[in-house]
Order: sequence, then C-alpha cells, then structure tokens
Amino acid sequence: MSLNARLEAIRQNLPEHVALCAVSKTKPLALLQEAYNAGQRIFGENRVLEMADKYEVLPKDIQWHMVGHVQTNKVKLMIPFVSLIHAVDSERLFREIDKHAARYDRVVDVLLQVHIAREANKHGFAGHELNVFLDSGTLEACKHVRVRGLMGMATFTDNQAQVRREFATLKQTFDDVKEEWFGSQAHFDTLSMGMSGDYQIAIEEGATLVRIGSSIFGARG
Ligand SMILES: *Cc1c(COP(=O)(O)O)cnc(C)c1O
Repeated sequence: MSLNARLEAIRQNLPEHVALCAVSKTKPLALLQEAYNAGQRIFGENRVLEMADKYEVLPKDIQWHMVGHVQTNKVKLMIPFVSLIHAVDSERLFREIDKHAARYDRVVDVLLQVHIAREANKHGFAGHELNVFLDSGTLEACKHVRVRGLMGMATFTDNQAQVRREFATLKQTFDDVKEEWFGSQAHFDTLSMGMSGDYQIAIEEGATLVRIGSSIFGARG
C-alpha cells in the first residue's frame, strides 16, 4: 500500500471530532512531504532538534506537535514555531515553556502527560501529582502557557482489556480535571491518546487526538 492509501485508510477510521497527528520521527523529509501532499497538516516529532530541522525546510502551514519527553534545555529551540507540546510532565518544564514563550510574546498550547501505563519507564504525572500541580498556582502564574488537555500512553501489551482500562482511566481523569479546573474554559478540549496499535480503542474511550506513526510511514528501523 502507498503512504497515500495508508493515510486514507486511517482517516476513514477517524470520527470527525478526532484529529490525526502523523508521527514522523526518524522519517526522511520526502515522506513528510508526501503526507503533506496528501493533505496531512499535523506532524508529530519526539526530538526537538529533528523537529526544528524539518520545520526549517517544510511548508510553513504545518502544525508541529512535540509528542516526546522534552528536556528543559531544549525548550527554547521550538518555542518560535511549535503548535502543541503533548508531554508536559513537570512543573519545571511547564515554567520553562512559560519563560521562553513570554520572550517570544506567545501563548504556547500544551497537554499534561498523565502516567497511565504499568511500565515505570513511561513519563507523566501520577494521579495525585496531577492534582498537586493543578493546585499549585503554576497555571495562574504562567500566562504564556495554555493547557489544552491531557495526554497518555497505554502499556505496551497485547492485553486489549488492560489498554482499554488505562484509556478509560485517562478519560475519567480528563473529565474530572476539566470540571474542577477548567469548567468554563472551552479551550480545555484535547485528549491525546492512541498510537498505531491501539488508536481504535483510544477513540472508543474518548480520544480527540491520535498520534499515529508506523501505520502511516512504515516501521522505524
Ligand atoms: C512514536 C510515538 C508515537 C507513534 O507510535 P506508532 O506506534 O509508530 O504509531 C505516538 N506517540 C508517541 C509519544 C511516540 O513517541
């Protein structure tokens, strides 16, 4: 199947309210251009330098999403152009984004990453840490960051029931956080969950943004 056909097949599986982030990490420019020519506009990368290099040369109407874990010393490189940072997992990173966004007179959209998997090596706020963070006054203090929603990654497992439970937990957390902290603010509207192997389950459980790489661009080496 061509890239075009794979992209089209995925799009046909997405309800209208679910956006597609095409995760192009490690993939060459030509493949991104091919996806762009097929109408794709949201691209996800997991390394700031690689994303900045691709941003330089590809069309300027691409929306660049940083989907990976971000080191604070790399933040400033992407602030001029990044469209959404998916994996904000600490107050330190949040404040760093705010600091650099202020210098560029920007308000940068972010998602808070929540730890839902059983694997300890995955990042994100644990449930209670998320509450502590939201209560800390950081959101109010950081006028150059706008929280658009939550992001999470399920455990890498064949056990679909477990994956579904983890996504359902994240959706519940999303609803609770929205009600308690963002109730009247319509911009808290994004729930990023689901990758090539589990995006259909994620959509059934309430995802509004899926991050799909290998099913579009092929396996990574
Ligand atoms: C690589 C990556 C994806 C895409 O994974 P695929 O299995 O290739 O679809 C999604 N989200 C994050 C955070 C990633 O790092």
